[in-house]
Amino acid sequence: MSTIWALALHGGAGAIAERVYRQEEEHMAGLLEEGAAMLARGESALDVVTAMAEALEASGLHQAGKGSAPNSDGDVELDASVMDGATRAAGAVAALRGFLSPIRVARGVMEKTGHVLLAGRGADAFAAANGFARVEDPKSYYRTAASGLAGAGTIGAVARDAHGRLAAATSTGGIQGKMPGRVGDTPIIGAGCWADGRAAVSCTGLGEYFMRVNAAADVSARIAYAGASLAEAAQAVIDDVRNLGGQGGLIAVDAAGNIAAPFNSQGMKRGIASSSGLRDVKTFR
Ligand code: ASP
Repeated sequence: MSTIWALALHGGAGAIAERVYRQEEEHMAGLLEEGAAMLARGESALDVVTAMAEALEASGLHQAGKGSAPNSDGDVELDASVMDGATRAAGAVAALRGFLSPIRVARGVMEKTGHVLLAGRGADAFAAANGFARVEDPKSYYRTAASGLAGAGTIGAVARDAHGRLAAATSTGGIQGKMPGRVGDTPIIGAGCWADGRAAVSCTGLGEYFMRVNAAADVSARIAYAGASLAEAAQAVIDDVRNLGGQGGLIAVDAAGNIAAPFNSQGMKRGIASSSGLRDVKTFR
């Protein structure tokens, strides 16, 4: 076991300049300390990103889990994905309804099925059959957190653990007022979430653009094929999104424990921590 670890969290790139995000930042700072302690104890990147994503979902402070906003029919449909860079195992759910922690269900898909992605009624049935906790009363549970950027907001976590393993997790309620059945980049392995031996990446922003640049996997590809640094690769992917007319950001860590968090929207709620003593939580530049 080495002593190097690194952790990054995000609460979505939909932050708007007119708002103050003190509550979100305070919560994220506390969570970052919990994640840092887990990584310092040698816990796996996969367990840490799952735990971080679950806590961000439950906070109600972001457009994911409890903070999810409804679609145009008034229903909350949830997307989430998780990927373990050490094994390239991955699990995801799309348009899941009525469960407290979409990221836990995504992890269940990864560990209990031979599949990567379950959608809609099939995802609901899997979650019910495997005893995942339900939302008892959707009307009173969901906070429908308002954010900027056309109602966008997502949460994510990426980590490099002390054993050198990388993992990523991403979860969202999607875009506020979305068409029923609309699925963005968040549960698409390669688009909204990716982890391999080179990089772990979690994206946020208008998913239609992130899918079209295969954003998360492209960070790793640019490191592999273009010899880019993590920072160069991450920025190039956000530039690609911008060139198509999209907005958003991503968080990424690499095998050496470097962290990148570029965005081209007004703000991105984010926090980073590392074994070298780095601690930083902010929303704007
Ligand atoms: N990427 C998410 C989606 O398109 C939304 C977000 O990140 O804010 O569903």
